[in-house]
Amino acid sequence: MINPQEARIVKEVFDLYLEKRSLLSVTMTLNEKGYKTKLHTTLQGKKYGGISLKSTNIQLILKNVFYIGKVSYQGQIYDGEQERIVSDDVFKKAQEILSDNRRERRIAGTTKNIGLLNSLLRCKACNCSMYYAYSMKGKYKYHYYLCMNAQKRGYKNCPTRLVNAQTIENKLLECIRKITPDTKLQGDLWNALTLQDQIKLLKSVVRQINYDAHEGFLEIVLHNEKSCKFSLKLKELKHIPPHKKDIEVTKEPPIRQNLIFAHQIADTMKEKDCSLHQISKWIGIAHPRLCQIASMINVSPKIQEEILFSQDKRLYRIPEYRLRDILSETDWEKQQEIWNDLLKSSDKQA
Ligand SMILES: [Zn+2]
Repeated sequence: MINPQEARIVKEVFDLYLEKRSLLSVTMTLNEKGYKTKLHTTLQGKKYGGISLKSTNIQLILKNVFYIGKVSYQGQIYDGEQERIVSDDVFKKAQEILSDNRRERRIAGTTKNIGLLNSLLRCKACNCSMYYAYSMKGKYKYHYYLCMNAQKRGYKNCPTRLVNAQTIENKLLECIRKITPDTKLQGDLWNALTLQDQIKLLKSVVRQINYDAHEGFLEIVLHNEKSCKFSLKLKELKHIPPHKKDIEVTKEPPIRQNLIFAHQIADTMKEKDCSLHQISKWIGIAHPRLCQIASMINVSPKIQEEILFSQDKRLYRIPEYRLRDILSETDWEKQQEIWNDLLKSSDKQA
């Protein structure tokens, strides 16, 4: 039978759970009070239990019909011989909270797989919805929206098939910001919202989004039936992994990387009081090559500033070795002239 001390703890568990509605916080409260799991001694005299509680211990107590005077046997519940510790009412309430929490966890667990444009985005060609999905390739996750028709009837029936999720979501946001004044859709405010709230907000503004991969446009239909068409660069929307592209765009121009490296070399030489030869050995780059890079710090401060901080896209097209012409010149003004010519000549390459 149940001893009085155990009965008292069980009662406390139920009361606390009804109050706090969380297994974890009940567990923490009881552990703070120094409660331990029941200590058992086996016939061989081995002891187990007597350790701090886990939320699964609490869950087992809350689900145990033993405490309402019943016994469970092979999935059936029978009247037991023991006295009840908690009322049916309390027990029922605890079961309700448990199942509520389970449902919430399930919903929270699936939000990762909800696309921002789910139930809004449609494939124009097939006149059917596109839904969010992802696939794993190695360690990368590729997110996309897939045409339901293409999924069911095969890709050759649909010109759209699938579209890169990140790209179409960004494009949609860019377009919608042009046609609606809602400030919550703007950058910082939008980014501060949870995915759920973003979806809610978007649905309050947009009724439908039609994607036409054949003609290359995105049609946004608002709730007031107003609709706007935006042309798309289809190449951008192809199913390419966003990671690779992102890296390409954000990568620093090679000439900048080299100049930063040149300064690191100079700093190291100063700090460690060492020679280029030593550094060459440490990092495994041939000495002559290291000399070329290290000499970049001899171009004028003005040019270095441009290389390090300018947004000029032409920097991507100027290789480091082109600086050698500049380095043969000691006059900073003349260096600047050569640099300006370099930039101009890279215009022609584009
Ligand atoms: Zn389709």
